[in-house]
Amino acid sequence: MTRLTAVIGDPVHHSLSPAIVNSAFENLKLDWKMLSLQVPAGKTGTALKVMRHIQMGGMSVTMPHKQSVAEQMDALDSSAENLGAVNCVVPSQSGQLIGYNTDSDGFLWSLEKEKVELAGARVLIFGAGGAARAVIRACILSGAERVGIRARSKAQEAAEFFPASVQADLSPEFSEYEILVNATPLGMAHLKEESPAKADSLKSSHILVDLVYNPPKTRFMELAENEGARAIGGLGMLVGQAVKAVHLWTGKNPDSEIMLNAARRQPSLR
Ligand code: NAP
Repeated sequence: MTRLTAVIGDPVHHSLSPAIVNSAFENLKLDWKMLSLQVPAGKTGTALKVMRHIQMGGMSVTMPHKQSVAEQMDALDSSAENLGAVNCVVPSQSGQLIGYNTDSDGFLWSLEKEKVELAGARVLIFGAGGAARAVIRACILSGAERVGIRARSKAQEAAEFFPASVQADLSPEFSEYEILVNATPLGMAHLKEESPAKADSLKSSHILVDLVYNPPKTRFMELAENEGARAIGGLGMLVGQAVKAVHLWTGKNPDSEIMLNAARRQPSLR
């Protein structure tokens, strides 16, 4: 019997998750399938009820449902506890729904793949929403020296869950940071010409990480590359969080290169 999983969101038709995750299931020779389900705001309870009743194998959660799903879990894994956002629902043996956030894992996976060291690094993050907090968590787990937050709101709230061992800087100077991370939607298709930083604040020694993956090269990345800096897009993080999700659902270790190639083949990214 085919075991179903789903990605829920609104809109969700653009999601690359089914292509990425199904490539892993296929390669692992598992009779599992991921569908994308358009779930309007206020209806996540119905989607979770269905998940319980038909014993789905797992669920991925995308915008705008990460917070509301977190509130409806039977338990939260430590990865989701402080973030208040769940992007991966895992059913336990006893049928409980456990909420995880695999964005930190995805971010760490993508930096490791690109051989970027977070330990001891000074990291400046643009934005203070769910993804920014997942990046902060990754920085804390990896032993970053200092984390700066530049956000139009909620920077103080995001800084509140920093441990004393990490310096939180809410008035960051670009030149004092080595890694700059865009965790805002600036640069996405509908904000294509926007960048969280201007060219004159970027320098060749910066490493830029844009969490936006569509378009694959954002305005922020272009500006950085023009200054001679290295720029990394968000596709690696997307694949990295899916690698973790497949492992949590199936207990198996999927082939990440197969998943990355499946993502790159998607027409919407070309
Ligand atoms: P979110 O919780 O809605 O947070 C968005 C953040 O960006 C907030 O701080 C928001 O500020 C800020 N922001 C929104 N519009 C802005 C604007 N026009 N100018 C300046 N700041 C603005 O969203 P999220 O879940 O953190 O996602 C953020 C980005 O990361 C999205 O582009 C998403 O696609 C991407 N992402 C990528 C991955 C991946 O796997 N690659 C995973 C997760 C997220 P306010 O609170 O003031 O609105």
